[in-house]
Amino acid sequence: MEEAKQLFKKLKIHTLLDLALLVPASYADTTLSSSLEIGKINTLEAKVEDVSVFAGKLRVQFRLVHTGKQLSSIFFHSTPYHHKQFSIGSDHVIQGRLEAYKGHLKMSQPKSIKEAGKIIPVYKTVLKEKEVQALMACYINEKNLYGEGLESHEVAAMMRIHFPRKKEDIFQDGRWISQNVMVLKFIEAYNHLKKLRGKRIDFPALYALGGEINSFVENLPFVLTPEQHQVIDQIQRDMARKDKAAKRMVVGDVGSGKTMVMLAGAMMAHPYKSILMAPTSLLALQLYEEACKYLPKKIKTALVMQGKEEGEYKKADFIIGTHALLYKEDLPQAALVMVDEQHRFGSKQRQRLESLVGSQEKKPHFIQFSATPIPRTQAMMESELIDVSLITTTPFEREVSTKTIGKQDFGHLLKHIKEEVAQKHQVLIIYPLVQESSEVPYQSLEEARGFWEERFEGVYVTHGKDKEKEEVLLKFREQGNILLATTVVEVGISLPRLTLIVIVGAERLGLATLHQLRGRVGRNGLKSWCYLYSHAKTENMRLERFAQTTNGFDIAKLDLQFRNSGDILDGTIQSGQKFKWLDLAQDEAFVKKAKNRIESMK
Ligand code: ADP
Ligand code: MG
Repeated sequence: MEEAKQLFKKLKIHTLLDLALLVPASYADTTLSSSLEIGKINTLEAKVEDVSVFAGKLRVQFRLVHTGKQLSSIFFHSTPYHHKQFSIGSDHVIQGRLEAYKGHLKMSQPKSIKEAGKIIPVYKTVLKEKEVQALMACYINEKNLYGEGLESHEVAAMMRIHFPRKKEDIFQDGRWISQNVMVLKFIEAYNHLKKLRGKRIDFPALYALGGEINSFVENLPFVLTPEQHQVIDQIQRDMARKDKAAKRMVVGDVGSGKTMVMLAGAMMAHPYKSILMAPTSLLALQLYEEACKYLPKKIKTALVMQGKEEGEYKKADFIIGTHALLYKEDLPQAALVMVDEQHRFGSKQRQRLESLVGSQEKKPHFIQFSATPIPRTQAMMESELIDVSLITTTPFEREVSTKTIGKQDFGHLLKHIKEEVAQKHQVLIIYPLVQESSEVPYQSLEEARGFWEERFEGVYVTHGKDKEKEEVLLKFREQGNILLATTVVEVGISLPRLTLIVIVGAERLGLATLHQLRGRVGRNGLKSWCYLYSHAKTENMRLERFAQTTNGFDIAKLDLQFRNSGDILDGTIQSGQKFKWLDLAQDEAFVKKAKNRIESMK
């Protein structure tokens, strides 16, 4: 046992199913050859007729059982073991490449196989072949596999994979049989989910919350979408519990109306306090303005940012702020903590906020918001650790046409930009770099700015490392025509007059980033355009597909498909493909089945 533990550690294996999923890299086939095939690997029954040594090499003369022909073999580094093994008169099944030389059959250094007619798994791991085989023989059996909750056809498939009886157990027309592959997909999903499930830890909540939201919902200038309602209901149910603090992630595309869900959260928390943290001052300010505008007066709202505070946060019902919140020692205890654009904070920051306002054993309800759509399959996986709500639609259909363009279209583009500016609309142009670089075949921000400044009024420039970024964005929002930037504007700030975005070198960016950028335009229902400027225009399928797809969740799926097909041009590869068999873009059914199986076992 202790020994096995060490081996599992070396293999980085934690569960029985991890071991079961360590499938053979190939199989050695010892089925006897039905005829002699020169130039190929043959497996033949043979008797040793003669043995001789010359120049340190061992020469063995065989007589083939089926054809009666002679075959000679040379062992270049012969050992006493070889001499003993191939004693005159002994019977063997030999395997090796068959050659013919001047009518004589030869097979250099054949293997002597113990048993013919077998198909033997070959594992490629850090361990010795024998060690892995011993582990499999010891642990992979029907009893253990049933013990993991597998069904009989799954158990049978795993037994076939590790202990095949015949070739047809594994291959059909030279490929893995699909039944086995389907079982492997399922087990991979199932094993992953099982492990995640063990990791979720829940704490009791500080308070059960049940504040009314009608006075807020009924006074909105629009009706909430069914999905907004649904998420609010889910949160309502989460927060009505005291035995378990809510832990939920709300994922919704840019413009899907997540702010209304946050405001509803603050309503439900009342008369207890709630806190909302946003990644930038601009976003915090925007959320604060919306809270003041839409929430009933009974909810006292405060803003906390570095160098700027509004309202008295110690007395407020709803405190909105940036990470400046994390440095307030005297934040009041909050019943609900929310984080917007959660991926822009580290997990330490999120935890710190939660612990600042919770006590040791009891936690505030915790809701995170994300504008990065994830594939449904991934959401299903993540929901083992945290409850997930998806908002897949936007309140109003945004009219954004996406087009891929190249050098030859520049004249057109310039004309279009002039038209938009003339209508008091705003234009955003994204450059790949701030400074020129020989590695990037596009103009940089600094190279391009002169061109625009000569031709247009109200040209603003900012980038990721720009210390004045937020001021520039604020000024531009009020009085600019054209904003030249790098991908900094990814953050969900709203520029209502923005109707045209140009993304220079679009093929260099990931689909998620492109989608975030495109989400900047047309936020108030104005007809808008997204131009993907690329030298590689004609051959870029990925950009073409992106141009035709508008829903963020579909894009997340598309992104996966392109990643899986290895079309990754822009270095935005996510940390390693986690699954060997499961394809998150295609295999939703397997993930669902695995989830159901786990549910049914509880
Ligand atoms: P995001 O999910 O990106 O944070 P916002 O909450 O900023 O989206 O919402 C985008 C815009 O849609 C805002 O101007 C908001 O007032 C508006 N909005 C939100 N919900 C609705 C709705 N149900 N009907 C119409 N407009 C809505
Ligand atoms: Mg938002």
